[in-house]
Amino acid sequence: MLEIYNSLSRYKETFKPLHEGHVGMYVCGPTVYGDAHLGHARPAITFDLLYRYLTYLGYKVRYVRNITDVGHLEHDADEGEDKIAKKARLEQLEPMEVVQFYTNRYHRDMAALNVLPPSIEPHASGHIIEQIAFVQKILDKGYAYVSNGSVYMDVEKYAKDFPYGKLSGRNLNDIVTETRELDGQDEKKHSYDFALWKKAAPEHIMHWPSPWSEGFPGWHMECSTMGTKYLGERFDIHGGGLDLIFPHHEAEIAQSCAALGHETVHYWMHNNMITIAGKKMGKSYNNFITLEQFFKGEHPLLSKPFGPMVIRFFILQAHYRSTVDFSSEALEAAEKGLQRMQEAYARLLKLQAGNQTTVEVAGLRQRCTEAMDDDLNTPFVIAALFDSTRAINTVHDGKGTISEADLKELRGVWKTFAIDILGLRLEEQGGDEGKQKAFNGAIDLLLGIRLQAKQNKDWTTSDKIRNELTALGFQIKDTKDGFEWSI
Ligand code: ZN
Repeated sequence: MLEIYNSLSRYKETFKPLHEGHVGMYVCGPTVYGDAHLGHARPAITFDLLYRYLTYLGYKVRYVRNITDVGHLEHDADEGEDKIAKKARLEQLEPMEVVQFYTNRYHRDMAALNVLPPSIEPHASGHIIEQIAFVQKILDKGYAYVSNGSVYMDVEKYAKDFPYGKLSGRNLNDIVTETRELDGQDEKKHSYDFALWKKAAPEHIMHWPSPWSEGFPGWHMECSTMGTKYLGERFDIHGGGLDLIFPHHEAEIAQSCAALGHETVHYWMHNNMITIAGKKMGKSYNNFITLEQFFKGEHPLLSKPFGPMVIRFFILQAHYRSTVDFSSEALEAAEKGLQRMQEAYARLLKLQAGNQTTVEVAGLRQRCTEAMDDDLNTPFVIAALFDSTRAINTVHDGKGTISEADLKELRGVWKTFAIDILGLRLEEQGGDEGKQKAFNGAIDLLLGIRLQAKQNKDWTTSDKIRNELTALGFQIKDTKDGFEWSI
């Protein structure tokens, strides 16, 4: 039985879907105003793992992961410039150009990480009408008020009828002392009230008509609206990073309870953060590394490029609820671990079956299943697979044998857990970059041999290499120091 940690109850609970055989799952996606970084990879991979495992268990999963393309202001939900609009202003682009550009790049990076696309990927800007209707419902129930064209959640009133702060374990006093005084405060009754709808300032370029003003929805509103639109008024799982618990997910609970009279989410799941040398990642710390920089090795904190599968393996080596501290050394260690798995898998595929099994392979599937059922304990799954490499190597070295049935089972466990559930691409060592490197190396090697042949006046060999490479479409140029080639 799958046991998952519910951030709301703070216990591990046996997962039981609301509708037999079906799972509805909503995960907060990216705000698309910049390239995805390591901090985006962790929730994407964590909930991809859950999606893959639920699917493996036989559930029909509807996985909704949104794109935030409006309403995410610089200072959390309520104040500052819209992040997308700011980027658009700085780059002199239409905001939707910014959205499309970074959405495309996000998809590219996620595909590289072998993160499966969600079933539905709704955009906040495509659901303005639904968000306005949701705000109206909260106003009708008396838990919000209009002030100067903006609509705010009346948190004090709400907290009298519902337990506000139950997800984050905060009470209103904690929140008051945490809340920064920002401009626009005078519109609110209390500093902890949050915007459901904001009237657009004249310079604000993204705005829509509403009953209250020409404006835009508050950031939290999109997830309440799109979650219930696509998954129903009650659904199974809502996920995201720990940093979203407050205010974002707390606000979502309040909005949904205020509008519908009950909570919508059955299990809240949160992945922990990635730190860099113990520090939270962020542009202000100058330790912000995009996935593209990882793949290309273009950052002062990186010793070399790291392929997407190394990043995926690095993240899965830790349990999703523990912190992960990034360093170039930690990634190099992950790269070695991944290589060991790739080598073991390649050997496993080539093993020959014998008459009987003399190596230890029993119980592997059960170990992996128990680890996954225990709140997605990926480090244990990886450890179990590593343990089985001993048996693979023993048979490979001719020091033991494995029967046909056991070999089939062993291959099946690796395929299911390493490839289908952990989502590791074990067959493509090094991925595309690795292939490119190997290809370039091979051509350089051939032309090196030709150069040597020329120096030895072995014209037969040197002409043969040149002519045959040319016939294959290569252009070879002899230079002072050696050669250059292109295709
Ligand atoms: Zn969200």
